[in-house]
Amino acid sequence: MKRFYFKTLVFTCMTLCFYSCVETTPENKVDLYSGVGAARWDVGKSANFLLSDELFTALELELVYMEGYKPTVKMVESMISFLGKYAFKPEGITVIEKEIPAMDKGEYTTEEIAKIEEDYRQHYNAGKTLSVFLLVVDGDFKKNDESTFTIGAAYRNTSIVLFGNRIEENSGGFIKPSKETLETTVALHELGHLMGLVNVGTDMVVPHEDQENENHCDNEDCLMYWAIETKSIFNYMRQTVPTLDDNCEMDLRGNGGR
Ligand SMILES: [Zn+2]
Ligand SMILES: [Zn+2]
Repeated sequence: MKRFYFKTLVFTCMTLCFYSCVETTPENKVDLYSGVGAARWDVGKSANFLLSDELFTALELELVYMEGYKPTVKMVESMISFLGKYAFKPEGITVIEKEIPAMDKGEYTTEEIAKIEEDYRQHYNAGKTLSVFLLVVDGDFKKNDESTFTIGAAYRNTSIVLFGNRIEENSGGFIKPSKETLETTVALHELGHLMGLVNVGTDMVVPHEDQENENHCDNEDCLMYWAIETKSIFNYMRQTVPTLDDNCEMDLRGNGGR
């Protein structure tokens, strides 16, 4: 995840200014945190909005997938129950699913992923509803260096991408996890990043960030272990979806979650 930020100097300055100069009341806060502009921040910056009901009391999940890569029922249901378990959203969680044409590019750069989001994302924070966007593309991530994530990534404060063909390649058969288990695992892991795990927008109650893999948990049985979103997943993954360990759960509660 670390090399996948859409982080620019301008953006950083805007964010800093945003947090330091704007006088806010609960009403105008909602305005400032709405629309396209509020979906262009770094990963973890909306963790508290996602977890608590202070500003946003409802949540919508917009799932946009390329033809042939429709998320499994298990993935969608698991995302809803994961969000329901950790986030206070008394007015509920809604899912919007949309198929888009396959682009057949083989590999997608960060810029291309951002462009697809721009073209197809229809839902942004509005009123008291927070919106999360998940895109499934039909190819791989085009690596610009030795990036480790290849199956999925959280790339902005409310945006996740899954690489559909990587999921297909790495699932099924006797040894590999099933497709639904793998895609569910990666989707929940990326949601964990949007919720600020580990140490990326949600403070740690007890130190447990992996020293070698920043923003990940040091417990290899935890959903937030780094290998989850990489091809190293087979070294340890079993046929069930891992859960968050106590340290990660404590962090979420510490940042307004449940
Ligand atoms: Zn990760
Ligand atoms: Zn953990």
